[in-house]
Amino acid sequence: MQRSVIWALKAMSVTALGLGLHVLTGNAVAQQDSVTALVEKHRAEAIRKREHIHQNPELGNREFKTAELVAEHLTALGIEIQTGVAHTGVVGVLKGGRPGPVVAIRADMDALPVTEETVLPFKSTVRTSYLGKEVGVMHACGHDVHTAVQLGVASVLADMKADLPGTVKFIFQPAEEGPPPGEEGGADLMVREKVLEDPAPEAIFGLHALPSLEVGTVGYTIGPAMAAVDHFYIKVRGKQAHGARPEEGIDPIVMASEIVLALQTIRSRTLSPLEPSVVTVGIFRGGERFNIIPREVHLEGTVRTYNPDVRDRVESRMNTILEGITGAYGGAFELNYDRGTPSVINNPELSREMAGYLAGAPGVDQVLELPPTMGGEDFAYFSNVIPGFFYRLGVTRPGQPSGGLHTPTMTADSESVTVGMRAMTHLVLEFLNARALQPNQ
Ligand SMILES: [Zn+2]
Ligand SMILES: [Zn+2]
Repeated sequence: MQRSVIWALKAMSVTALGLGLHVLTGNAVAQQDSVTALVEKHRAEAIRKREHIHQNPELGNREFKTAELVAEHLTALGIEIQTGVAHTGVVGVLKGGRPGPVVAIRADMDALPVTEETVLPFKSTVRTSYLGKEVGVMHACGHDVHTAVQLGVASVLADMKADLPGTVKFIFQPAEEGPPPGEEGGADLMVREKVLEDPAPEAIFGLHALPSLEVGTVGYTIGPAMAAVDHFYIKVRGKQAHGARPEEGIDPIVMASEIVLALQTIRSRTLSPLEPSVVTVGIFRGGERFNIIPREVHLEGTVRTYNPDVRDRVESRMNTILEGITGAYGGAFELNYDRGTPSVINNPELSREMAGYLAGAPGVDQVLELPPTMGGEDFAYFSNVIPGFFYRLGVTRPGQPSGGLHTPTMTADSESVTVGMRAMTHLVLEFLNARALQPNQ
């Protein structure tokens, strides 16, 4: 695969996508006009809800108030709903007045244990207890925007219900960032609770805020888009001794230090430089006192990969390195390698079609093809079952800087909600129109 071509960041126009001129029929023009008018009608309410959700963030599997707001919004639109899916998830089904396929769109609702440091007037001051510590809670991953966009899309499509050629399933998902330890949750649990059945969607779309893109811009990636996310826990065991008598102990700090460095050679020395992968140790914990060699050191980190063979190889190399280093010092180890979210692979055929529609979406200024990232997304659990298209929404404004995702200064401009509504409504309608059943068929 010519990855360098795929990875090159480049602006795409309809023509550059090789789609030729998009000739709009009379119906399509009328539809675009009405989408534009309906987005205009509903955007202020969607933005108000985004600001409310932002100010009242809730952690994964605890999205009680957010789910209530979502359920009330959908019910008021006359959309049939199911609540309590995968703990706090809400699923709405809007059946159009014309025959056609079923398509799903997904928004995640959970916030993160991050203390907000933005200057937004609706900034969160919520605090809660997380893993025994008191923490701030913040929509630092933009899920407030995703939820509001999807509420706005529901408002627009509900107004078009009579003409809608097919059915739209609105999936509002809890715990995208992962459920609290010891609990199940997220997309994986939603799929196991049969969210992709009855009615079964033919495809699913999702979007994600991206602070490096400005409001008005959307980005997409064809094929591999986001990495598989694994989580490892290592215990390095030695023998406790006085800090001044190392010869009587086995030092787990020295062993763990060598292990951290050796783990970096998995990426650099045992895998092809062209294979994307990351091995990061994020926690290195051990010791009680400056003059005691401790008994044990705890390491914890993440592995990101795309290729399942590379994933296997990283895990097996970790074992070999741990055996080698602890063996050389007479220590011991325990490795718990937890395979998490699989990689998000955007269905190539569907993505090409959708990228073409994005380029033609009214009110979307710029469409960029983006390189894959090593970030993860549990949208993968949906797109592993049915064809999926996951794309990026620009959220920043010039002169209003934003920190990255998961940081205390991540700042999404509310106008991104309007652009998200335009892009997502357009994708859904184009997808349904292209597959709508003709009355004479
Ligand atoms: Zn996140
Ligand atoms: Zn996210």
